[in-house]
Amino acid sequence: AKLQGRGQCKFYSPEINAQLQERLALENELHGALDRGEMVVFYQPLIDLDSGKLTALEALVRWQHPTRGLVSPAKFIPIAEANGMIINLGEWVLQTACAQNRAWQLAGFPPIRISVNLSARQFEQPDLVQVVERILQETELEPSYLELEVTESFLMNDIDNSVKILKELRNIGLWVALDDFGTGYSSLNYLKRFPLDMLKIDRSFVNDVTSNSDSAAVTDAIIALAKSLRLNITAEGVETKEQLDYLQNRGCNEGQGFYFCRPVPADTISNMLEKDARL
Ligand code: C2E
Ligand code: CA
Ligand code: CA
Ligand code: CA
Repeated sequence: AKLQGRGQCKFYSPEINAQLQERLALENELHGALDRGEMVVFYQPLIDLDSGKLTALEALVRWQHPTRGLVSPAKFIPIAEANGMIINLGEWVLQTACAQNRAWQLAGFPPIRISVNLSARQFEQPDLVQVVERILQETELEPSYLELEVTESFLMNDIDNSVKILKELRNIGLWVALDDFGTGYSSLNYLKRFPLDMLKIDRSFVNDVTSNSDSAAVTDAIIALAKSLRLNITAEGVETKEQLDYLQNRGCNEGQGFYFCRPVPADTISNMLEKDARL
């Protein structure tokens, strides 16, 4: 950056410029993407580490772009967060995931939880609880088969209000999980105030739990903390047998990661459930 008159800063780095252009292009194309039917929900299994059974699925949105191919949510969710599109998109994901879960139940598969990510912007909507209730009614999904994932960073914005909303959500009868645990403020003082059902250990710790003693120590501490608060504990990003063994030994309840299964389209899950049912 080069200093201009009156202390203003002008960026001319070609790299930054290219990134900005890319972001602007994506933002433009994102408008109407939902209406054009370009969004798809993938599902990733959560495995019970005692029984080895699939107990839940996390809904993860993808953008099936006409020329760019499958665009990762890491690329477009931040844009949708910034311009408010996440509110409609998030509601659509919730609706799609609940309807899909109900469809699997009606097809006769053993009932499982479906877990949906909530964004900060959705959490700030005064009608969030009503929206969730309406979608559960419309899709005829029992609330106990829905889990919502929230993150510490946005719960901490307004703690009293967050506690109130979490209480209302849990009163519906659904489950609330704290996602990416260990990466946020980790104010243990507040953690006990939040009405939660599960903690998800961030994959940055799980990734090198068998190679880095700091990550192992953090993981152990999180598991111990979850147990003392009587929270269910899920490890994200399980990629190897060694990681799985470690987590199993420490009494972690559920695992999610490429070792078990990548996020896949609903059809692929249907085939897996069908095979399971025939066993
Ligand atoms: P997240 O909620 O932490 O979701 C888990 C991410 O970890 C997913 O990335 C998943 O594909 C990835 N993952 C799972 N297992 C492994 C593993 O073993 N190794 C590695 N390296 N990665 C693994 P994905 O699908 O790209 O999503 C990225 C993020 O985008 C999510 O992180 C979530 O914050 C956001 N996101 C995705 N879908 C939605 C949505 O519908 N609404 C909102 N608000 N955010 C979403
Ligand atoms: Ca998540
Ligand atoms: Ca996560
Ligand atoms: Ca994450």
